[in-house]
Amino acid sequence: MTPTSIIVGAGAAGMMAALTAAGRGVPVLVLDAAGTVGGSLNISSGQLSAAGTVLQRRRGITDSPDAHYADVMRISRNTADPALVRLAVDNAARTLDWLTENGMEFLPEHPVEGFAHEPYTAARYYWGPDFGRSILRVLRQAFDAQVATGRITLSLNTTLTGLVLSGRRVTAVTARTPGGVRTYPATSVLLATGGYNANPELFRELSGHPAYGGNSYPHNTGGGLEAARRAGAALRGHENYLSSFGVVMDRPGLGAKMEFRHVHHPQDRAPWEIYVNTEGRRFVAEDEPSVDAREHALLEQPELRRYVVFDLRVLRESTPMITGRTNDGLRDLFDVHPMFTSARTLEGLAARTGLPVGALAATVTEYNTALGSGPDPFGRRHRPVPLVEGPFYAIRVQGASVTSTVGLAVGTDLRVRDTTGEPFANLSAAGELLGSGQLMGKSFCGGMMATPAMTFGLLYGRALAAEAGGRR
Ligand SMILES: Cc1cc2nc3c(=O)[nH]c(=O)nc-3n(C[C@H](O)[C@H](O)[C@H](O)COP(=O)(O)OP(=O)(O)OC[C@H]3O[C@@H](n4cnc5c(N)ncnc54)[C@H](O)[C@@H]3O)c2cc1C
Repeated sequence: MTPTSIIVGAGAAGMMAALTAAGRGVPVLVLDAAGTVGGSLNISSGQLSAAGTVLQRRRGITDSPDAHYADVMRISRNTADPALVRLAVDNAARTLDWLTENGMEFLPEHPVEGFAHEPYTAARYYWGPDFGRSILRVLRQAFDAQVATGRITLSLNTTLTGLVLSGRRVTAVTARTPGGVRTYPATSVLLATGGYNANPELFRELSGHPAYGGNSYPHNTGGGLEAARRAGAALRGHENYLSSFGVVMDRPGLGAKMEFRHVHHPQDRAPWEIYVNTEGRRFVAEDEPSVDAREHALLEQPELRRYVVFDLRVLRESTPMITGRTNDGLRDLFDVHPMFTSARTLEGLAARTGLPVGALAATVTEYNTALGSGPDPFGRRHRPVPLVEGPFYAIRVQGASVTSTVGLAVGTDLRVRDTTGEPFANLSAAGELLGSGQLMGKSFCGGMMATPAMTFGLLYGRALAAEAGGRR
C-alpha cells in the first residue's frame, strides 16, 4: 500500500480537513470507527460562534476577532490557552462564511447573544434549525463530492488502535477493521477522533469525576488520545474540568441519559424553588444570573448533584420549571419517575430522597425565616413565597458533561507535542481531541467546540495542500 495522508475521525474536524485538502487536489485516506460520518454533529446542538462574518455584516453587527478573543479569555478567567483561542477566533469567520456560502440554513434571527452559556458582548452565536445536523448536511455534501472524485478514500468501521513511529515521525497507523487488524502506511496523520466521554474509565481518570451523563457520541472512547499518549504525546487541561448546571437523567447511576431540562436560567424563569446539595444544604443564590457562577458553585458539591425543592404552592402557581411540561403535567412523574419525588411532609421527602432530614428541614426553615425578616443568606433576590404548603417535592438534577476536557498538547501549527514539548514531525490533532480545557478553559464559551473543530480542520487541510504543493 502506498503511504498517504491519513485523517482519523470523520467528524466536524476530520471532514473539514479532508474536504479542504481534497478540494486542493491532495488525496487523503479517512478512517472512522463508526458506520457513518459526522461524529458528534449527529447529536450535537451545533451552536457556533464567530466574529466578523458575512451574516453579522448583513445585520449591521459590529464585531471583531479581538472582541471574541477578549470575551473567551474573560469568561474563562484566562484559563483557556491564549494561542489556541487566538488561532480559533481569528479564523472562525472563514468557517462560518464557508458554511453560509455552501448553503447552511441558520435560524432567521441569528446571530444572537444567547445565554445558554455566559453571554458574549456581541451577537455572534449561530445555529441551524436542525442543530448539529444542519452543519453536517453542508459538510456532507462537500465531503461526498470529494469521495466521488476519488480524492477522499473513506474507510468506515475502521478503528485506530495504534501509531507506528520512527523517532518522532509516524510511519503508519494500525486499525481494527471488519476484516481484521490492518496497517496503513502514512506520510502524515491528523488525529480527529473527538473526545472520550464514551469511555467511563478514561473519563474518570482525566476529569477526576465519574461520567454521569451518557449523551455523547458512542464511538468517542478516546482511541486517538490513547494511541498518541502511548506514542509519548503530552496531555493538557486536567485542571479545567467543569460540569453543566445539570439536567434530569432518565435514571440514577452512571451512563444515564438526559431526559428533562430544569429551567434554571433566571433570564427564562425566575426561580420559586430552592436548590440543595446531597447534604440538604443550599449552595448558591438560585437566581444568580451568571450561569458560569452557578456551574462553579455546583462543581464544589458532592456528586455534582442538586435537588430542586419546592412545595405545592410553587407547583400550582409558578411558571413551568421543566422544559416542555406544564407544572401540572409533572404530577404524573412524582413517585413514578426515579428523579421526581414527593411527600406530605419535608421529613417524608428527606426519607424518600435520601437527603438528611435534619439538614433539609433546617435549610427550608432558614430560607422561609429570612424571607420574612431580611436578606437571603446567599443574596437571592427573587423570593416570591415561603415553602410551607405540603406536599413537598424534589427533582434530582445531575451535573454532567457532553464534551471532554483534557486533550492532546499541540502548537499553533496543530502538531502534537510530546511530553518534552517537542513536536512530532507529521502528527497533528484537531477538534475535541484537543479538549475543552484548552479552547474554553474552566468555563463554557458558546460555540467554542464545534467552530474550532471545523476551523482547525480547515487550517490543517490548507496546510497539507500547501506542503504537498497542491493547488491553493
Ligand atoms: C449533545 C452535545 C451537544 C453539543 N453542543 C455543542 C454546541 O452547541 N456547540 C459547540 O461548540 N459544541 C457542542 N458540542 C461539542 C461539539 O459538537 C464537538 O466538540 C465537535 O462536534 C467535535 O468534533 P470532532 O470532529 O472533534 O469530533 P467528533 O465529531 O466527535 O468526531 C470524532 C470521530 O472520530 C471517530 N472515532 C473515535 N474514535 C476513533 C478511533 N479510535 N478510530 C477511528 N475513528 C474514531 C468517531 O466515530 C467520530 O466520527 C456538543 C456535543 C454533544 C455531544
